[in-house]
Amino acid sequence: MARSKATLPFPLLVGLTTLRCARCEYDLAGLGNIAQCPECGMRLGPAKALCMVGVPRRSESNSMRRWLWVLLFVAVFMFSQLWFLLVMQGSWILVGVVLLGIVGGGVAMVTTGRGRSRATERLVMTWGGIGRKEWGKSAAPSELMDWPEQIDVRVESIGAVWQRIKVFSIETNGARKKFFDCGFRCEREQLGWVKAAIEALHRGEDAPDPEPVMDVSQSSIPWD
Ligand SMILES: [Zn+2]
Repeated sequence: MARSKATLPFPLLVGLTTLRCARCEYDLAGLGNIAQCPECGMRLGPAKALCMVGVPRRSESNSMRRWLWVLLFVAVFMFSQLWFLLVMQGSWILVGVVLLGIVGGGVAMVTTGRGRSRATERLVMTWGGIGRKEWGKSAAPSELMDWPEQIDVRVESIGAVWQRIKVFSIETNGARKKFFDCGFRCEREQLGWVKAAIEALHRGEDAPDPEPVMDVSQSSIPWD
């Protein structure tokens, strides 16, 4: 939160021995064979992880939140039509309770929505999945999203340096489900590499090297 979106570092490959395990936080420094975490057994990879900083969307909460908003609007509409009737019947307490519920619900939706959508995360992609952690907070807990069996990686260019990546899981019946959706800073020319790197790590292969970096000022930004 301390650093602004404009200075988010571009994706890069980082040696696994400079990282901690995304599942159990085990320090991987000095390990020779890093195919898996010696502590929890998570699959890591031969040498390098794709590290990114981005603003993920939590799709699982989005559809739920959409319904909550609809519910809230329905409640407001009903109340606007019926409050007069209730007052006429002398149901002042009911009017108060409903009004309090609507105001409280609205405030809760707005405050929780803001915190969730703005969180910037440090993302570490390895053979095992995507390790996620709040960016710039070394003490924050990390969370691991295990790769689905089959994935479809889509990249979308929003601007010269602001991009979006969507990873879909392909279910056994062929249906596509959104697995990961994230905005991040990256040169447009590197998007193909980001997609190829994620696909290679998912397959259990080495991530390819990036195109030569065009913006040299990038190298000074700490990524974690
Ligand atoms: Zn581990």
